[in-house]
Amino acid sequence: MSETTNLNIAVIGAGPGGYAAAFLAADLGMSVTLIDPELNPGGVCLYRGCIPSKALLHVAKLIEESHQAKDWGIDFAPPKIDLARLRGWKENVVKKLTGGLGVLSKQRKVRYLQGRAAFESSTTLHVTRADGSGESLAFDRVILATGSRPAIVPALKLETPRMMDSTGALNLEDIPGTLLVVGGGYIGLELGSVYAALGTRVTVVEMLPGLLPGADRDLVLPLHKRLEKMLDGILLNTTVASVKDEGSGIRATLKTQDGATQEKVFDRVLVSVGRKPNSEISGLDKTRVQVGPRGFIQVNKQLQTDDPDIYAVGDAVGEPMLAHKAMHEGRTAVEAIAGHKVAFEPNAIPAVVFTDPEVAWCGLTETQAQNENREVKVAKFPWAASGRAITLDRPEGMTKLLIDPQTERVLGVGIVGVGAGEMIAEGVLAIEMAALAKDIALTIHPHPTLSETVMESAEVFFGTSTDIYRPKRG
Ligand SMILES: Cc1cc2nc3c(=O)[nH]c(=O)nc-3n(C[C@H](O)[C@H](O)[C@H](O)COP(=O)(O)OP(=O)(O)OC[C@H]3O[C@@H](n4cnc5c(N)ncnc54)[C@H](O)[C@@H]3O)c2cc1C
Repeated sequence: MSETTNLNIAVIGAGPGGYAAAFLAADLGMSVTLIDPELNPGGVCLYRGCIPSKALLHVAKLIEESHQAKDWGIDFAPPKIDLARLRGWKENVVKKLTGGLGVLSKQRKVRYLQGRAAFESSTTLHVTRADGSGESLAFDRVILATGSRPAIVPALKLETPRMMDSTGALNLEDIPGTLLVVGGGYIGLELGSVYAALGTRVTVVEMLPGLLPGADRDLVLPLHKRLEKMLDGILLNTTVASVKDEGSGIRATLKTQDGATQEKVFDRVLVSVGRKPNSEISGLDKTRVQVGPRGFIQVNKQLQTDDPDIYAVGDAVGEPMLAHKAMHEGRTAVEAIAGHKVAFEPNAIPAVVFTDPEVAWCGLTETQAQNENREVKVAKFPWAASGRAITLDRPEGMTKLLIDPQTERVLGVGIVGVGAGEMIAEGVLAIEMAALAKDIALTIHPHPTLSETVMESAEVFFGTSTDIYRPKRG
């Protein structure tokens, strides 16, 4: 392996993809400049994505559990919410993590430039600093990690603070009486759950026939049922045709698939209909970088663009737009630049929806198997038979394995239930290690834990689970 580490590289964008790339490049001995408009590294994930949303979801879960505690003989008084303190706590979480990245950046002697970068040529960038000053800098290689931003629906564009995207919703300016969430994807459901827990009456509108398109329906069902109790309404096969600012609220016209319309007034509207890659980078036309029809920067398996000096990673290069994918791509790009023999070709990228219950999956899904006419065996273990789930009073969960009937290899894992997001890592490892169902069945899992349900579902596949009764067929 020949290594090239005496390079001078620039990383544009300091989200998970960018900072992972910059830090590894510095660790490999490269001279690194990291450019981002924020004070510290972190990007969308830390400033206005994964981290603040999870801090608020933690609070939401606490409130919801305090309600459920009544069933266990403990009656808490209704929570008094000090919104300024809650906001402050969330902001402190963000500050702690982004500040930590700032320190790590300095320790590695990464040159952090707070500003925006534009291309003058493939290897020369003009950086405009936050104070308006600018400088032109030349590099051997450039890594683009410019991320993504909320998608905008023209019909839903109104200049009023009552209309929010995910960033506005995370600012938590007030606890509105009513909130319309446009889009039943993971961001809408996570943020909708936060507001619902804080006392807002939330309505979710989704144009497709089910929430969380992309996830298997049996994984979504327990979440749907719980959300039905928590939310004011879940309107499927419905679109928001128009919105009108009435001063005291937003009047939304909701249209169902059969053409029926109804109007409703909401205090606030959260538009969460997806994200768009940030590929309109100034001066990109002075390079050979190609952008595909959906706006993603085109890269090969080494994350190299059509311009050999420019690499690109993260949300800007394609789905799934997730932080862990961005980080792995960032590291792969740097290793490729260093001359290592690498490719970004994971067998499984986990997806987690941090609602309550959580929904998580990796590898092949049942929907995908059906669409591809692929024969799979599905082994499901219901959490109603899990000791741990019963002690938590959360028996609605389910763990399933998708198994190749010929080789008995685990191809996919799906989990719905509390803590599913932590548990899915075992599924990813199983798929990456080409584990057989037998490997999982024979792996002793600690009792009583929810992780046992992964082992139990493998036992269900062999008809040997002793925690449920399934009469043998035939
Ligand atoms: C509400 C919400 C919740 C989320 N929750 C999760 C979650 O739980 N788990 C998960 O995996 N993912 C989650 N995501 C997605 C996750 O945030 C993204 O996948 C991740 O941040 C992508 O990382 P990235 O490095 O590609 O870019 P980003 O994090 O988007 O960072 C890109 C950075 O580049 C900067 N930039 C852009 N153009 C320039 C330029 N010309 N010059 C300099 N800088 C520039 C941007 O300002 C930004 O700081 C969430 C997103 C949102 C919005």
